[in-house]
Amino acid sequence: MTTRRLLNCCFLGLLTCVACTRPNSEIQTAKANEPGPASTASAPAPAPVSLGASPSSTEPAPRVNSARAFQYVKEYVSIGSRKPGSPGHARAEQYILSKLKGDNVEVDSFTATTPVGNFPIHNIIAKFPGKKDGIIVIAGHYETNYPLPNGFVGANDGGSTTGLLLELANQFRGKPNDGYSIWLLWTDGEEAFVKWSDEDSLYGTKHLAERWQKDGTAARIKAFILLDMIGDADLDIQRDNNSTPWLSNLVYQAATTLGYQSHFFEQTTAIEDDHIPFAKIGVPVVDVIDIDYGYANAYHHTTQDTLDKLSPKSLQIVGDVVLRTIHYVNER
Ligand SMILES: [Zn+2]
Repeated sequence: MTTRRLLNCCFLGLLTCVACTRPNSEIQTAKANEPGPASTASAPAPAPVSLGASPSSTEPAPRVNSARAFQYVKEYVSIGSRKPGSPGHARAEQYILSKLKGDNVEVDSFTATTPVGNFPIHNIIAKFPGKKDGIIVIAGHYETNYPLPNGFVGANDGGSTTGLLLELANQFRGKPNDGYSIWLLWTDGEEAFVKWSDEDSLYGTKHLAERWQKDGTAARIKAFILLDMIGDADLDIQRDNNSTPWLSNLVYQAATTLGYQSHFFEQTTAIEDDHIPFAKIGVPVVDVIDIDYGYANAYHHTTQDTLDKLSPKSLQIVGDVVLRTIHYVNER
């Protein structure tokens, strides 16, 4: 997650800054009215994934196994700090790759020049084929912030998304897919090495967007869905003004259909994150992010970003919304 967020704190005088003034009691009240599936943290039985064809009214919507996703997060966070260039970073990569054995995996490697030296950067891409001509990318960064103390383990910031993406791989693996191909992308070098700026940030995705623009991949991407900080037990996803409106609307439609709308888009912000390099080259993008992590965002980029602040329920909500959004993108 980035260190520079452009919060539209007073947009039209109606919105308040989520990180500054919103009382937690308001958030809790909204969640108390939440219906149905969102009220359980237990893992549902895995259902067949229908990513392309229209599901009948009797067909259950595909759902992720949140207990399994949370177990991945737990194991991943136990690695500790995952700063670029560190042994923990290498172990993090090994962990992700160990869960993708037998899949079609590509590692996009290069050396990033940062204000504090050169670092090897590795974006990890797992590709699951579909019958339709086009690609849907689901992404999240996996490293931890370089300047923070080694005690920073990024349970939510990089950990939650890594685990959920691994669970999404389970949903796509070995299943026929009539829709677009799904590429899962664990990005590296998202965080600043010193201080967030256009130059010191988004190393992995800037490199990948340039590469995919040159080789024609970018033109085939129908949607780039970025996940960040989505494990927060107190889940409130903001609407991002830097995302593509129609794709944001599909995410909200998915959340509403699944009964999860109370966790989505009560607030609007403008986020700088891994989706930006792709937005700049014309790819439809959405950042599914909760930057209200702890009271006044107090846990963000601190050693308090630990597993106990997270909930399998939040992984369930976001994972299910992603699966439903994929279905809607295929239907467009
Ligand atoms: Zn971060």
